[in-house]
Amino acid sequence: MGLYYQDNLDDFGHRRTIFKCSDCYSHFFTSSDIISDNFHGKNGTAYLVEKVVNVKRGPTEIRSMMTGEYTVCDTLCQQCGKYIGWEYLTADEISEKYKEGKHVIEVCGLGASGMDKKKELLF
Ligand SMILES: [Zn+2]
Repeated sequence: MGLYYQDNLDDFGHRRTIFKCSDCYSHFFTSSDIISDNFHGKNGTAYLVEKVVNVKRGPTEIRSMMTGEYTVCDTLCQQCGKYIGWEYLTADEISEKYKEGKHVIEVCGLGASGMDKKKELLF
């Protein structure tokens, strides 16, 4: 497998935590991109994230969730192909439209530049 071009994120002198792939350490997003840390993924706690780099999309599908029906696609690490969460493409419910274009990223698929992922968010 060849190496993809990698976007490297800036931690602004350690003031931001950089969240990375737990397998290949590709950068995904920083603590300032997190909209909510109170989401639930397939495998536990997840973040709602504004934008994610170094990822690719899986196939598009319709998914029914507790808050309504969405068109989503899986978010995969561009480098190693690991599943890390999904992206909301469209939401049926008006009240859920704010999620469109945002990613739900599962904490268990992430490594962070800080020591404790959860604590780092409380700055
Ligand atoms: Zn990876």
